[in-house]
Amino acid sequence: MNLFSPIETEFRLLPPQKKALKKLGIETIQDLLFYFPVRYGDTAQGKIIKDLVAGDSALVYGKILQISLRKGFKSKIPMAEAKIEDGTGSVKAVWFHQPYIAKIIHEGAFVKIEGKVSDRKGALYFSNPEIEEVQTVPTIVGDSLFGKSENGTLYPVYRESRGISSRWFFHSIRKVFESGILKEIEDPIPEDILKKYHLPTLTTALVWIHSPRKENDSLAARKRFAFEEVFFIQLQKQRDKKEYEHYAGFPISKSGNDVRSFVKRLPFSLTNAQEKAVENIFSDFKKDTPMSRLLEGDVGSGKTAVAAITSYAVATTTPHNQDYGNLQVAYMAPTEILAEQHFNSFIELFSHLPLSIGLITGSGCKKFPSKVNPKKPTDISRTQLSKWVKNGEIAMVIGTHTLIQKSVEFKNLAFVIIDEQHRFGTMQRKNLRHKKDMVLPHLLSMTATPIPRTLALTIYGDLDLTLLDENPPGRKPIQTEIVLPGKRDTAYEKVREEIGHGRQAYIICPRIDEPDPTKEMAVIAKSVTEEAKRLKKEVFKKESIAVLHGKMTKIEKESVMRDFKDGKTDILIATSVVEVGVNVPNATVILIEGAERFGLAQLHQLRGRVLRSTHQAYCFVFTENRSKGTFERLQALLKARNGFELAELDLAQRGSGELSGRKQWGLSDLGMEAIRNMKMVEAARNEASSIIDTDPVLIAHPLLKKRVENSEQKIHFE
Ligand code: ADP
Ligand code: MG
Repeated sequence: MNLFSPIETEFRLLPPQKKALKKLGIETIQDLLFYFPVRYGDTAQGKIIKDLVAGDSALVYGKILQISLRKGFKSKIPMAEAKIEDGTGSVKAVWFHQPYIAKIIHEGAFVKIEGKVSDRKGALYFSNPEIEEVQTVPTIVGDSLFGKSENGTLYPVYRESRGISSRWFFHSIRKVFESGILKEIEDPIPEDILKKYHLPTLTTALVWIHSPRKENDSLAARKRFAFEEVFFIQLQKQRDKKEYEHYAGFPISKSGNDVRSFVKRLPFSLTNAQEKAVENIFSDFKKDTPMSRLLEGDVGSGKTAVAAITSYAVATTTPHNQDYGNLQVAYMAPTEILAEQHFNSFIELFSHLPLSIGLITGSGCKKFPSKVNPKKPTDISRTQLSKWVKNGEIAMVIGTHTLIQKSVEFKNLAFVIIDEQHRFGTMQRKNLRHKKDMVLPHLLSMTATPIPRTLALTIYGDLDLTLLDENPPGRKPIQTEIVLPGKRDTAYEKVREEIGHGRQAYIICPRIDEPDPTKEMAVIAKSVTEEAKRLKKEVFKKESIAVLHGKMTKIEKESVMRDFKDGKTDILIATSVVEVGVNVPNATVILIEGAERFGLAQLHQLRGRVLRSTHQAYCFVFTENRSKGTFERLQALLKARNGFELAELDLAQRGSGELSGRKQWGLSDLGMEAIRNMKMVEAARNEASSIIDTDPVLIAHPLLKKRVENSEQKIHFE
């Protein structure tokens, strides 16, 4: 056995196990070793059901076999009743006066139950216990299975997947340990860094994370892996940053004066934040190294205008050593609709100038101006567009990521703008550069995803940051209301009223499908498809409704969005896929179901969908959770000044699991934990820069180099 042996050569696997491992991305022994427990069970705390005794206060883990709503036999008190099973036996639990529990928790869920055990005619039951859904239930423990920890109680619990159990992981990892393979492992983190921050070595940390003798061991191990993850990301980003500096840029010496006439034509005057952003960019442009800058601003803060002004500056600059022609701009958007939207805005802003604009997406290409009608764009072939881009005739090209595919070659690409794209790595950027030279275009990355500062420092470690922290004046704040269960009617009324005025609405649901439509039990998390049916039947009989969710194909999604944008549908019922910045100014109401399931920053972003208009906009936030905590948390939506504030709140209150879009950042759970800790992020950042400063391509650090390169391969577009 070695670290890179495929799992199936070392373990006999059943087909479902194979499938499950593949799904979890576990292919080699090394992958298995790095599959960490999600938590630890403690047999001293948790009881097994067969050992319960009446009168005890006890905690058990189990699976819900049955749960229902009923009325007390004589008292008629509404109550929820459940049967929980853990492999050693089953026990009932009842919740008087809390029938909603039967709606929140469903059959098959894994739960932790804690409370007093009572006895009724010889049958044990929990009465009004605390109940919490958990990811997985510890496999039933006997000493033989988990071995003895110091006090005989701690055991790892791994996230299970259909076909593979926590128990399987426990056994298999134990076997890997017993094979002596840990001796082979080299620690990529330099020893002095480990010492400085009191972190365990890799081997120790692996042992401690899988079989801690005491809680502190596991904490120290987790701290090490969290540090490691942020440290490697930092190394990669700092290395990239250093690398950019080796390239020449396109010095562009434009100042505010040069763009004054262009800015004057805009239908508004710039906010201070926009002016400052343009200044930042101009001062980067002047340098002879390429710019790498991130423009972070809430939805509606006016990033497109900044993109347009700076594009203007580039497109009106003549290439070095030439007295004709112009530098080129590439503007990338995450969806076709957004690309088209930007294309149309650019036509409006640039039509008075002798500059051509191209649009390139998966479904076709356009060029402005058309030869026939200089006020209109025209469809052209990809080949034709590519030719004009290559010979430099088209100054600005807007598109989806098709743009960076090899077929598009530029003559003088000097400026790349990326809208709402988190994963634009060095590789992509290099692909875009003019092949012959050591010249790299300036990069402006724009995002509205509100994230905490620690996360920004980590994932955008190679970029300089500009914040657009001011919204254009005169915009009416969105009227936001937290709606408790049973009060939905006023919100529906408002939707009808707005549609009556010719406006449109979004309804956001947290799920796509009901988990099991045959179940009569009401599932609280509304599904898009079910909710659409219900609303059509009961609430919005006359209005036209469309559905949008992540399981639809890209083409289906685009077409639904297009119809909505064109005003063909009144109500769009969607999952949070509408997050990305599509501009439908005519939509003025948004209803968000199951808000307790979203992070505040994500709710804020969803709400941003209706910020576009000059009409008064409304946001109704529905929650099924009556708890005071939820209500208070959601109240922050009414007070916060911007998304960043809410992102910090999410992080502080509920941890990194709540941050929206986390999948895109490619951080593990541990890495996300690390970003709760500013000190750790700063330490990782400082150590990474001091290594890169002295050893920019990691020649003296082969292990680090290998790790950084491995993680780089994983960066790709969806
Ligand atoms: P985002 O930052 O979300 O990309 P946009 O660039 O799409 O925002 O701008 C949102 C809306 O605000 C657009 O309709 C735009 O014309 C308008 N806008 C941008 N800057 C200003 C400004 N300084 N004053 C008034 N309106 C502005
Ligand atoms: Mg935008």
